[in-house]
Amino acid sequence: MIPFVDLKAQYQSIKPEVNAAIQGVLDSCAFTLGPEVAAFEQEFAAYSSARQGIAVNTGTSALHLALLAAGVGRGDEVITVPFTFVATASAIDYTGARPVFVDIDPQNFTMDPKAVEAAITERTKAIIPVHLYGQPADMDPIRAIAERHGLVVIEDAAQAHRAEYKGHRVGSLGDMGCFSFYPGKNLGAYGEGGMVTTDSPAYARTIRMLRDWGAEKKYHHVLKGYNFRMEGIQGAVLRVKLPHLDAWTESRRTAAAHYDRLLAGSGIVTPKAMPYAYHVYHVYAIRTPHRAAWQEALQAKGIQTGIHYPTPVHLLPAFADLGYREGQFPHAEAASREVLSLPMYPELTEAQCEEVARALLSLRTNDPAEAKLMANAL
Ligand SMILES: *Cc1c(COP(=O)(O)O)cnc(C)c1O
Repeated sequence: MIPFVDLKAQYQSIKPEVNAAIQGVLDSCAFTLGPEVAAFEQEFAAYSSARQGIAVNTGTSALHLALLAAGVGRGDEVITVPFTFVATASAIDYTGARPVFVDIDPQNFTMDPKAVEAAITERTKAIIPVHLYGQPADMDPIRAIAERHGLVVIEDAAQAHRAEYKGHRVGSLGDMGCFSFYPGKNLGAYGEGGMVTTDSPAYARTIRMLRDWGAEKKYHHVLKGYNFRMEGIQGAVLRVKLPHLDAWTESRRTAAAHYDRLLAGSGIVTPKAMPYAYHVYHVYAIRTPHRAAWQEALQAKGIQTGIHYPTPVHLLPAFADLGYREGQFPHAEAASREVLSLPMYPELTEAQCEEVARALLSLRTNDPAEAKLMANAL
């Protein structure tokens, strides 16, 4: 069996360090925020080339508080993509603002900068590009548009810890960067976690208050805030894991290179790493018009796959109130129908990549009619 992700393999490789770190928090009883979280904020901000890091309880909260710090609220609009995890749009919705979608570039599954300008109105306050699958969005043109129109750029970097755009780390590419430490992310807590990175002392100060009941100091609540604090145990676990992230990322990139090589010339559409990107392969997604059949056939051979994501946000029932219709974002809609995520985690071996590729190639060649359809789809 080849799992889609394997958190147990990674835990086994760092078990003594992690267990000792958790024991340390238990001994100190610094269960929420505290010294481990404060140290992790500094270490992760530096790792992401940002001056400040503010740790929170989830990636969703990071986005929510970044938007509030940017002054986004009721009546405002925030531009993002529909081809993302629902949290990106939910965070906008929490502020009372309206998510306004623009299509993706089908080459790289991230925001098409050429689509942004037409979506700007006098109500637009911010743009949230999503570094989907671990590849940065094309940030230079997005930033240029934002500057021209006085908009705040908030990176959704939940899938892209350590990724780079033209040699610069995500989390330092916009006004604020938002990360998730959900267990399955490239840097995962043993529970939930998130962080906002920024160079702005003003944004950092506001987010620090908002995550802890809007308090400037204890019981002095100057803002209507939230309980979005990171737990001490998560800070300690993440501090143990961060020094391994470079090697884990290289292992993901090696696995992706195996897939690229094994599937090259097969007609199967593999992901495109853009020349500007250091891609960290949170997800390795191929495209196929026969996704359901392929997923089932792979499952029968003991190979688990995923779909990120089967419905673009503008067509989710939860966001029907926005009034979007099918056909408005054709690239996002096509991607939602065709993407299939192959097993991907740092401990994935070359032999496992070969097994996955063999299974895929046999699917492609077993049925001449299917092979023809594949060729037509390219
Ligand atoms: C995981 C994820 C989030 C939300 O992070 P949580 O920690 O699960 O709240 C937001 N955006 C994207 C693109 C994600 O993948």
